[in-house]
Amino acid sequence: MIVMKFGGSSVGDGPRIVNVARIVKDTKKPKIVVVSALGGVTDKLVNIATKVVDLPTLVVEKEVDLFYRDILIQHREALEDAVPDRRVLSELLPKIIELLDQLRIGLLGVGYLEDLSPRSMDYITSFGERLSVLVVEGALRSMGVNAVSLTGHEAGMITDSNFGSARPIHSKSRAKVKRVLIPLLKAGKTPVITGFVSGNENAKITTLGRGGSDYTASLLGNYLSSKEVQIWTDVEGIMTTDPRIVREAKPIETLSYVEAMDLAYFGAKVIHSKMIEPAMVAGIPVWVKNSFKPESKGTLIVRDQKRIKSVIKSVTIKKDVALLTVQGVGMAETPNIAGRIFSILGGNSINIPMISGSSESNLSFIVNQGDLEKAVDLIENEIEADGFRGVKVKENVSVITVVGAGMAGTKGIAAKVFSTISKANVNIIMIAQGSSEVNISFVVKDSDSKKAVKALHKRFIK
Ligand code: ASP
Ligand code: MG
Repeated sequence: MIVMKFGGSSVGDGPRIVNVARIVKDTKKPKIVVVSALGGVTDKLVNIATKVVDLPTLVVEKEVDLFYRDILIQHREALEDAVPDRRVLSELLPKIIELLDQLRIGLLGVGYLEDLSPRSMDYITSFGERLSVLVVEGALRSMGVNAVSLTGHEAGMITDSNFGSARPIHSKSRAKVKRVLIPLLKAGKTPVITGFVSGNENAKITTLGRGGSDYTASLLGNYLSSKEVQIWTDVEGIMTTDPRIVREAKPIETLSYVEAMDLAYFGAKVIHSKMIEPAMVAGIPVWVKNSFKPESKGTLIVRDQKRIKSVIKSVTIKKDVALLTVQGVGMAETPNIAGRIFSILGGNSINIPMISGSSESNLSFIVNQGDLEKAVDLIENEIEADGFRGVKVKENVSVITVVGAGMAGTKGIAAKVFSTISKANVNIIMIAQGSSEVNISFVVKDSDSKKAVKALHKRFIK
C-alpha cells in the first residue's frame, strides 16, 4: 500500500485534476490519495475570513455573497472539466453546493459576530480540502476507479484541540485509521482524503497548520505502515537551490531524512518540515515528484543513502526575516533571561527559526518579518528591568543555509563555506549554531543574498 499526496497546484483546476486522476489510475498498487485544496483556495478563505470580521455589519452579506459566487464558479468549473461522467457529476455538484452553503453561513457568522477565533478559522479553511476531495473523487470515478472521499477525521485521524496547528494523537488515530481505511482498501476502493483537515475528540474540525497536507500524508503512511509516501508537486523534486537564483540548479537524487528536514525547515518550500518525522520513525521512503512531468525521477528521501556525490547537497535561502539582538549588562545579572525571552515568544506562537551563540551581554536570534512587531513588544515588556539597553532590530536580512550529511564527517567545510562567502565580497552578519550536524546557517543582507547563494552553489554542488 502506498500514499499519494497531491498539492494545491497539482489540483489547480479541472484539467490538472484529470492529470492527477490519470497518475493515480496508472499506479497499480493499492493506494490512498491525499489532496490539498485547489491552488490558492486556502489563501482566499483566510483572506475573506480576515476581511469580513472587520467589515461594517451592513456590507457583510454583500461581501460574502461575492465571495460565494467566485468560489462556486471555481469549483463548478473544475468539476465540469474533471468529471465527464454526467451521473457522477449530478451526484457531486449538490454536495459541493451544500458545503458552499455551510461555508457561506460560517462566514456570515464571522462577519456578524465580529469574531474570528482560531477555531472558526479552522472551520472556514477546512472547506478548501473538503471541496477538492469531491472533485478528485469525481475525476477518478469517471475513469472507472472506485474512489471514496473522506475528511481526515472521517478517515480516523484525531488531533488535540490546538486549533490552527493541531497535533495528532497517535495512540487514538492509529487504531481508528486502520479500522476505517483497511476495509476500504480490501474492498478495492481508493480513499481520497483531505490533507490538512482533521478533527478533535469531539469531532470538531481542526487543521494541522498551513501546508499541513504533507503531514497528513506521512501520518497516514505511518499508521498504515505504507511501503512509500509520494508527494506530488509542481517541481521536479527538492532542488540543489532556488532555480530562480541559480539557473544550473537541479533536483537532488537522494536525501536522508535529516537533510530533508533541515532543507524544509530552512526554506526549501517543497515539503512541510513536520512531514518527515512520521516517515522517518517508520523508515518509510518518501518520493517528491512532479505531477506535470510524472516520468522524471524526482527526489527520494530515505534513511541510508548509497552514494553521495557532494558533501553539500543544497543551498537554501530564507527571506523575510529580521535579526533581533537583546543587549545590555542586565543580561548577565538577570537569571535565565534567554529562557524567559524564548518562552514568552513561544507562548505567543512566535517561531524562532535560528539562534546565534549568545554572550552574557547579548543574545541574537531571527524571527519572521511578520512576527517582528509583536516580538519586539513582548520582549520589551518582559525585560523592563535596569541594565537593558533594549532590543536592536536589523531588517532586510536573509538566512542562508547549506545542508549536507557529508559535512559531519568532513573536516574544514565551514572554513571553505566562509571563505567562499568572503571571496564573493559578502559580509556575514551572524552565524548560527546548526540545529543538527548537517547544516550551517548564517545571516547576510538581503541585497547580498543572491551573490552568496550563487557562489556557494558554484563551489560546492557537483
Ligand atoms: N491547503 C492548505 C494550505 O494551503 C494545506 C496544504 O496545501 O498543504 O496551507
Ligand atoms: Mg496549499
